[in-house]
Parts: sequence; structure tokens; C-alpha cells
Amino acid sequence: MKVLVINCGSSSLKYQLFEMDNESVLAKGLVERIGIAGSRIKHTKTGMDPVVKETDIPDHNVAFKEVTTMLLDDRYGVIKSLGELAAVGHRVVHAGEKYAGSVLVTKDVIDALTECIPLAPLHNPANLMGINAVTEALPDIPQVGVFDTAFHQTMPSHAYIYGIPYEYYEKYKIRRYGFHGTSHLYVSNRAAEMLGKPIESLKIITCHMGNGSSITAVQGGKSVDTTLGFGTTPGVIMGTRSGDLDPVIIPYLMQQEGFDTKSISDLLNKKSGLLGISGVSSDLRDVEEASEKGNSRAQLAESILYYGVKKYIGAYAAAMGGVDAIVFTAGIGENCPKGRETICSGLEFMGVKLDREKNATRGKDRFINADDSAVKVLVIPTDEELVIARDTKRITLEG
Ligand code: AMP
Repeated sequence: MKVLVINCGSSSLKYQLFEMDNESVLAKGLVERIGIAGSRIKHTKTGMDPVVKETDIPDHNVAFKEVTTMLLDDRYGVIKSLGELAAVGHRVVHAGEKYAGSVLVTKDVIDALTECIPLAPLHNPANLMGINAVTEALPDIPQVGVFDTAFHQTMPSHAYIYGIPYEYYEKYKIRRYGFHGTSHLYVSNRAAEMLGKPIESLKIITCHMGNGSSITAVQGGKSVDTTLGFGTTPGVIMGTRSGDLDPVIIPYLMQQEGFDTKSISDLLNKKSGLLGISGVSSDLRDVEEASEKGNSRAQLAESILYYGVKKYIGAYAAAMGGVDAIVFTAGIGENCPKGRETICSGLEFMGVKLDREKNATRGKDRFINADDSAVKVLVIPTDEELVIARDTKRITLEG
């Protein structure tokens, strides 16, 4: 059974084609700069070098046509006809409180995604464009939506209700939703597998640290708290997002600088975090390089990130009454030994002991704790596409 997984951004479309009989990736690629000059598709058939085609791609419908053309190509393709595709799975960001799991895309789902546009103004419209593009090209193919927010729907109300008048939860559904759900789900289950224990018996803290970051407390396989919230700005600092902030700063800055709502939102989401503090870059590799050369603001940005993660590990261990395993994933979590070491140092009091040699690893499933560490520490490369493909297969077969 072949399943195509799609992840649409406002000007991009990422895809992976899976053979689900053995969960292998047949081909993958990225369409970039949709609707912008210089649009192109980069396609890789597994086992071959990537091919790049530069062509005018004005919208997501044309982008999806380019994807199908590549998949059918004599040389770079992996299927003979589109009829070989059994289903399409979409990464979709925000479903509000409506769905606690993945669903077959129906008119109701499209309505729910449309209703949630104000909650995810950057992501939901792009996800809808992806669904429309597939519907136009393949009207009869089953499509499944896998929501970033769904895994966190198990949080108890004391973790998701904010300390503002309750009427705004009732009126506008203002609450913590959480994101990166497929990643937290994947790595927590993989950790249980690696530990050889049922996930129901485990307390795991998953640290998804990439350009966007979130830390999640996973108790018995369920998300019980997470750092991202109503939107994707809070928690630890990110590439360009501020992380936690005293809300009073917002009206104060608006008053002092004459910012309108768009300017303040841009400041918090696009100019803050690693970039805003270091003044160097949103990319941790650049920040690390500057910091090694003695740039004190780059050093400060790194410290703030690692301190934030450490603080949430402590908080979530308290929330769950202990922790069995800490997992690091995503670009920074998988590839940055220095970050993992800084975060874990000082946590010996709660049974966390890293093995420096094992920690000197990048990008593969591995235990990095010392043999006598009570808490296991793991690096697990995330695989959101595989979770989406598995859910798509399951839901399509269930009908
Ligand atoms: P992601 O959003 O998961 O793709 O993660 C992107 C982040 O991972 C960026 O901040 C990168 O700088 C960071 N990253 C990727 N590779 C490394 C590395 N080798 N060392 C440190 N950070 C890295």
C-alpha cells in the first residue's frame, strides 16, 4: 500500500512517498518558493542523487502537479500510474478542540480547519491549499488529516486553562493547545520501545528542539503538559520566537514604540529568540560559532535556551511525580551534544547522569546516559512523516 505524505507551508510543499508494506520511503522532495520568483522542486528517489527542476509554480495546485509528474517520471519516478497511490496523509496544524486524533478529510474537517484559521493564521490556510490541490488532481483518493494539536488533547484542564476570566475560554476557546504533537508521540513511543517497557508505565519528558521548540510531559503515553500554548510563541526561546514572556511587556512596548498588533506580533514571532538576543542568526549553528569566537550575546542566547529547557524538565518531573526518561529530538536536540550536556548538567540531584562519550553523537537513536543513571536519556531522530503515513494507512483501511 503506497501512501503519499504532504506537509504544506504557505510557500512550500514537502512530500514523502511510503511503501507501507515495509514502511520504506520510495521518494521524497520539496517544492519551494510557491508563488514567488525562483520556484523549484527538489526530488529524490531513494538510492539516487536529488534532481532539481526550476520552473514557474504559481500556486499549490501546480506544485502538486509537479510532484505527481516527478513521481511518474521514467527516470526519477517510483510509480507507473497515480492509481497506485492508495491515500494521501496531510500534516495539518490546528483543529481546535474538535479532534483528538487523525481523521479522514471530509467537509466537516475542512470546516473545522477553516474555523481555526484565526488560531493558526500561517499554517491552516496552507494546509487547506494542500488538501484542495490533492482533491483537484485526485478527486477520489482518501485523504487523512493528522493534527499537530491532537496528541495534546489529553492534557488535563489545570494544564490548559489560562489564568484569565473563564468566559474567554468559553467564548473564544482561548486555552493551551500545544503543537509538534506527531513528533512528541513518535519519540515517546520509540523511547518506550528502546526501554523495552510498556508506554503506559512510563513518565517521559520529550524535548523537541528545532527552529520551533516544545517540551512535553508524557505520562502513560499521554501528553499531560506542554510548553507551546494557544499559539506557537511560548515556552523556551526558539529561532525567532520569544518563548515565555511577561504579558505586561506587550502593551508597554506598544505604547513606548507605537507598535500596532502586527508589528508586536512580528517582533515576538520573527525577530526574537536566538536571533533577537544574539543579533547573529536564528540558526543555532551560527550562534554557536559566534559564541565560540567570544560573542557574549551569542553566549547569552545559548544559555537562555538551555536554561529554559532545564527549567521545564524540572517542572514536568514535578508535574508527573518523577521521570523515567528524557528524550532529545529535532534539529538541535538530535545534533547538538553541547546543548544536551548543558541542559543535563545540574540535574544529577534528580537522577540524571549523562555519559559524555555516548553524548558525542548526532542524528541516530541512542541512549546517552551513564550506566548508573536512574533516569534514561535518549537521542531519537523524529519521524513525523512516518506517524502521518501510519495513521493514514490505519484510517484508510478502517474506512
Ligand atoms: P529543525 O527545525 O528541526 O530543522 O531544526 C533546525 C535547528 O537545528 C537550527 O537551529 C539548526 O541550527 C539546528 N541544528 C541543525 N544541525 C545542528 C548541529 N549540527 N549543531 C547544532 N545545531 C544544529
